[in-house]
Amino acid sequence: MKIQIFQDIIDVIRGKKEIKIVKKKVAKKKILSKFLVFWIGTKCTLKCRLCCNLIPYSKQISYNADEILKDLQFLLKNHEIEYLQIQGGEPFTHPDIIKIIDFVSKTNIKNIDIATNATVALKQDVLNTLKRNPNVKIRISNYECTKVAREKFCKVLDNNNIPYRFYDFKFNNKLWFSTGGINEKKANDIEVQEIFNKCKNKGCRTLADGILTFCGKATTIKEIYNDYNAKKCDEVNIRKIRKSFNPLKNKVLKKALILFFENKNTYKEQCRYCNISPDLFPAAEQLSSEEIKNLRRNEV
Ligand code: SF4
Ligand code: SF4
Repeated sequence: MKIQIFQDIIDVIRGKKEIKIVKKKVAKKKILSKFLVFWIGTKCTLKCRLCCNLIPYSKQISYNADEILKDLQFLLKNHEIEYLQIQGGEPFTHPDIIKIIDFVSKTNIKNIDIATNATVALKQDVLNTLKRNPNVKIRISNYECTKVAREKFCKVLDNNNIPYRFYDFKFNNKLWFSTGGINEKKANDIEVQEIFNKCKNKGCRTLADGILTFCGKATTIKEIYNDYNAKKCDEVNIRKIRKSFNPLKNKVLKKALILFFENKNTYKEQCRYCNISPDLFPAAEQLSSEEIKNLRRNEV
């Protein structure tokens, strides 16, 4: 695309093309994401102590499917996505998962997968939906604590000829790194840039309930820390722009996306509440039942 634009500029200089046409072409160019995480809720069947998105400490909800799909559609008008990963919590807890799969399957996104912990028994109508949308793939987290459920889950997929793949986490060794818990001290500017530099999650841009953030943790950090304030360039409120009456809202979105995607080497306000440990930990160690009882959660 870049080479084409240079060629267009040369053609304008040589008088072979009109500047108006080239300007229009550049304005039409969509911004590209190689990878985008799409949260469909925060409801999860597990309570992983080191969940990098702090899901166990978040309200356990399924987002309104119609709203999140309209957000995605609006984003796609102005933004190309190469690889979309559907996440929850656990995506198969969503009551409208069929509608969501059917919708994303019809977009122009090349690669789509659902990241699942394989603990939810899939009903036949969900299996049928996966069968008729083979471009929506299943990615199974290979947790030790879900071995039995996972085997059952895979058997059901096998019986229905639905392919899947396993995921062994960032280091391919069943170990997790930690980005910190819910009581991290607020880092200063120098510390926070160091945290950001060390973070392995900084490529996980996430669309969660209408808001595009640098990584999904921003959504839960907002809930947990009262003093969190995102900077203008830290997030894009896709839904707010979508619902506005501004006739130029596509332009507004595009401008906001450009601001969001540049500065990718600078920390975001959400990173102040992280703490990256140099150690690795067994994946998906669960909170104790006593700890779970003490979580203030709001199930919907
Ligand atoms: S890491 Fe664990 S708690 Fe977090 S979303 Fe995945 S399965 Fe749920
Ligand atoms: S908030 Fe920042 S430091 Fe924390 S996980 Fe996300 S990108 Fe990494």
